[in-house]
Parts: sequence; structure tokens; C-alpha cells
Amino acid sequence: MTAATETRKFEAEVAQVLHLVTHSLYSHKEIFLRELVSNASDACDKLRFEAIGKPELLAGDSDLHIDVSIDKDARTLTIRDNGVGMSRDEVVANIGTIASSGTRKFLEALSADKKADANLIGQFGVGFYSAFVVADKVTLTTRRAGESDAVRWESAGTGEYTLESVDKAERGTEVVLHIKPDEDEFLQDWQVRSLIARYSDHIGFPIRMPKEKDGKPTGEWDVVNQASALWTRPKAEIKDEEYRAFYKHIAHDFNDPLAWTHNRVEGNQNFTSLLYLPEQAPFDLMMGGRDERRGLKLYVKRVFIMDAAEQLLPAYLRFVRGVVDSDDLPLNVSREILQQNRNLEKLKSACTRRVLDLLDKLAKDEPEKFATFWKTFGNVFKEGLAEDFANRERIAKLLRFASTKSDGAAQTVSLDDYIGRMKAGQDAIYFITADGYAAAKGSPQLEALKANDVEVLLMVDRIDEWMMGYLSEYAGKKLRNVAKGDLELDKLGGATAEQRKETEKAAEGVVKRLKDLLGERVRDVRVSARLTDSPACIVLDDQDMGLAMQRLLKQAGQDVPTTKPVLEINPAHALVKRLEGEADSARATDLALLLLDQAQLLEGVALEDPAAYVRRVNAMLTA
Ligand code: ADP
Ligand code: MG
Repeated sequence: MTAATETRKFEAEVAQVLHLVTHSLYSHKEIFLRELVSNASDACDKLRFEAIGKPELLAGDSDLHIDVSIDKDARTLTIRDNGVGMSRDEVVANIGTIASSGTRKFLEALSADKKADANLIGQFGVGFYSAFVVADKVTLTTRRAGESDAVRWESAGTGEYTLESVDKAERGTEVVLHIKPDEDEFLQDWQVRSLIARYSDHIGFPIRMPKEKDGKPTGEWDVVNQASALWTRPKAEIKDEEYRAFYKHIAHDFNDPLAWTHNRVEGNQNFTSLLYLPEQAPFDLMMGGRDERRGLKLYVKRVFIMDAAEQLLPAYLRFVRGVVDSDDLPLNVSREILQQNRNLEKLKSACTRRVLDLLDKLAKDEPEKFATFWKTFGNVFKEGLAEDFANRERIAKLLRFASTKSDGAAQTVSLDDYIGRMKAGQDAIYFITADGYAAAKGSPQLEALKANDVEVLLMVDRIDEWMMGYLSEYAGKKLRNVAKGDLELDKLGGATAEQRKETEKAAEGVVKRLKDLLGERVRDVRVSARLTDSPACIVLDDQDMGLAMQRLLKQAGQDVPTTKPVLEINPAHALVKRLEGEADSARATDLALLLLDQAQLLEGVALEDPAAYVRRVNAMLTA
């Protein structure tokens, strides 16, 4: 067949990626082999899946495998698979274009670091282009399973590529790398073998290289990897290195995983799961981006069914990567069918339990790793309190916070730690929510608690206040927001009921004065049992929505009923005393407003009229 060769330009972003790949990746150049073998393996997986419904696709060639061969004279390295192949349109779409949102991130990551590590590349769904790290020309010839036309794609990795129709007897894809002059090591048989052993041993299809005798090809093949799906092998036989390499393959991550759990379950449901905790968050974790790579890979009886089977784990565990291989799901399961399958719920809760078990184990035996986990994924994990009612107590046990008794902003205190050192007579777990560590730690609301040596958990992440709405009790102890209601400190060394009555009586005058001066601005003015050093603070009633939550909802454009603040005062404070004795009514008003504005500022409330606040402060300062 002859057809004119068509030359096309790469999409602008592809050209940019290629430029960076060829000019700035210096370390770990060898990963191109891992990426191309990984693509070949994906192609074999896809074909095996398509062949479930159309067995004729495998016609006459059902042993899926990947061949790697070297031609020293021609200076080429060839990776060939008999997987699904690509049609002409697919070649253009998959190799000439980059659909993934990862491209831009990849470009940013690379341009920030000119000597970037080639390892980065697989993560962003641009692994194929790593071929250009070592090749000055790449020729890809492919024929899709079930079609007769083949196509050849060729590029030197600059701005354009060519496409032509060709004949190709075998189904699948062949990628020929024309190795650059100074990259001879990739033309060494032993070198390539050892790279496959290092990076691709776990690939579930045989990777073959020509058998040689006295440096001459014998016409036979050696299988150079284990060639059995890693998770199907007995745990005791799998080395940590193999687990790590497999993680990199399935997660498209160049970092090692933090930890993993590998289990075979037999009973009324049979399945194997191999679940990993990554060490670093993917770039789109918090954006909640429905990344096509997210979730677990689902296999049924060793046959790859789908990527990103997010139904296999609840959303709050969306950072977990891995494989689930079920013996019970039907092979022809689709996303829609999966949702309705009653085995799914069981699989999901079993996988969830495995992940929680793994986290328990880390928390207990490897606190440093647990701390890494918490730092990276803690905020996502917290969503579990709302999402996973059945496991709420287990999730709560794994939460970590900063506290008034821990060092610095690191979140290291568990609810059990807290309960273990509660004061005699204390029956609640106290916490404060604020916008950041400094705001929490310095909040006047903690003063009396600190004075009485009562520990307070400092909740400083945006999600915390929302999360605490789902956790009112833990291990029989109520969780109490220190900004809400009566703290009942009398049992913990604070003022007794009588003492408080007396203080309140003595302060009746100033409370009344403040109520008059502030009028509609406040819901109430009260004498505080929270304060020792500050003049005033804002508090909420038990049923009020927290201030941070109100802000969050407002920012999200929602209608939030504005609750007027309740002002609590410290009658012993000099400013309050001054107000009490202030004869000039204009000055008294200024003082009252100052107290209110300060208290609001401390809560992170944006003042309605900041200029007026500044004017009042300046007037005081210059008086
Ligand atoms: P990723 O593998 O992360 O999707 P790559 O850049 O490695 O990104 O590959 C891009 C796409 O090209 C693949 O998703 C696949 O559709 C296609 N592709 C690459 N290599 C092969 C192959 N050997 N057989 C079939 N399709 C392939
Ligand atoms: Mg790839």
C-alpha cells in the first residue's frame, strides 16, 4: 500500500513538553524504558479486556507479550507489543495531542527546575515523550486489533511529526528509538536487561529479549521479568523493592510509596487487594479534580477491567492507590453495572477497613510515617467523619491536632492522648477553631482554660469547624468548642458559681452601660468566665454556626443569616474599668466600640468599618 506521507505540527503544548524533555532532563534518563514498557503493558491489558466481548480480536495471537530488541548497527532500540494498537485517529489523539490537565503542571514543574529529573515525566501522562530523552528520532508503527490498516508515526522530537499508512502483519505497536550518539549504554544488551529487571519486573506480561550465544542471536527469546501479576504472588516472595516498583507503575508516581497493605480474602467473597499510601499528594488532590487516574485499578480474575474505580473506596480515601482483583464480579462489568453490584459494597467496606488497619499500624509502629501521612492527607482524611458513619470512631482515633500542650504548630496530639492527660473532674474535650495556628493559640478565649491548666486542641484547618459538626463525642467524652456557651470551669479550678454571681453583680453597671452604648450591634453583653488578661471576647451560643464556617459559606456565595455577636467582658481589665468611670459620653462610646471591634478582629471577623476603628484607636493614642 502506498499513501502520501502527511506532515503535521504538534499541538503547541506538546512541542513545549518535547523541547523541555530533550533539553532539560539529565538524571534518570533510563526511565524512558519503564514508560514505554508500561505503555505496552497497558496496551496488552486493554486488548485482553476488549477481547472479553470480542474474542476474535485475539485471533491467532493470544499470547500477549512485550519484546525488546537492540540493533547495534542501526543504533536502534525497539519495544514491540501485540496489544491493542492504535488507529490513525488514536495516534493523532494520543501521541500528537495532550488532553491531560497534567501537561501545564508538568511544564511548570520543569521550567522551575532546569535540571529536572526525568523521573517526573510519567506522573503527568506524558511518558511516551520520554523516548526523546535518549532518541533523536522515534518511529512508532501500529495496527489496531480488529483493523487492517496500519499507520507509521515518526518524529525527531521537534515541532512536527509525519504520518503514513503502512502494512503491518502483526497487531499491536512497535516503537523504534534511534539512539542519540552519546547514549550508547542503551544499546548494551546487559544494560537493557538490568533496567527491565529494575523497573519492570512486576509487569504481568512476559517481557522478552533475544537469546544470544557468543554474542550472536539464536532466534529464541529469554523472558527477562517475573511476568506474573505481582499481587497474585505470595507475600513472602515479594521483595519491598518489587512492591515499590509496582507502585510507581500503577500510580504514575516517581516517589516511593509511604506504606502498603497486601491481602487475599477468601470466603463468601474472594478478592485480593494491594493498597498503597503515597508519600506525596498528587498535584490535584485538593482541587477535587476528577482525575482519570484516581482510585484503584480493578481487575476481575486477573483481567484488567478499569482504571480509577473510585467506587471501591470512599472519597475521603481518594489518595489511596492500588489494585483490587475480584473473583466474583462479572468480567463484563461496566462503571454503571459496578454501582449496582451488591458485591461492590462489601468490597468497598473491606478495602476501607484495610486502609484503616494500615493507618492504625503506622500510627502505632511508625509514628514518623504516620506524621508524613497526616501532613499530606490529613485534611482529606478528615472528610471521613462526615462520609463514613460506620467507621467514625476509628477515623476519630486517627485524627491529630496541635494543642496548647504540644510543641509548635505540628499536629501530633490524638484524642486519646488528650483524654489520657485530662484533669481530674474534666469530662469534656475542649477545642478551639481559628484561621491558623497563631490566631488559635493567642485567642483570649483560652485564657481561663490556660490559667487552670486545661488542655485545648487547636483546630486551624479550614475544614475543621465543618468536620467538628460531625464529631460531638469521642470515647464517651463530649467535644466542646471553647467559643460556645458556658465552659463550666468551676469544676476545673475556675471561679465557683457563687464567685461568678458576685462578679456579675459587681459588674452590672458596666454591662448595662455597654449594652446601651452598643445597642443593636450586639445580641448580649455578659461577664466572662473565659478571660483573665484580655478585656473582651466574642462568644457564640451552643446552637450558633461557628464564625469561620459563616465566613466560608459567605465566601462561597451562600446566604448566611447574620447572627449578632455576644460580647463577653472581663470586668477586672483596666479598659473596662476605664469605661465604667468614663464621664464623657463620646469617649465612652468610642471605648465600647473599640472593645467590640478588637474582640471581632481576634476572631478573624472583617470589620464593617475599619477606618472608623483606626480613627478611634488613634484618638485614644493621642489623647
Ligand atoms: P499515559 O500512558 O500516561 O497515558 P503516555 O504519554 O505514556 O501517557 O502515552 C499516551 C497514550 O498513547 C497512551 O495513553 C495510549 O493511549 C497511547 N499509547 C502509547 N503507547 C502505546 C502502545 N504501545 N500501544 C497502544 N497505545 C499506546
Ligand atoms: Mg504511559
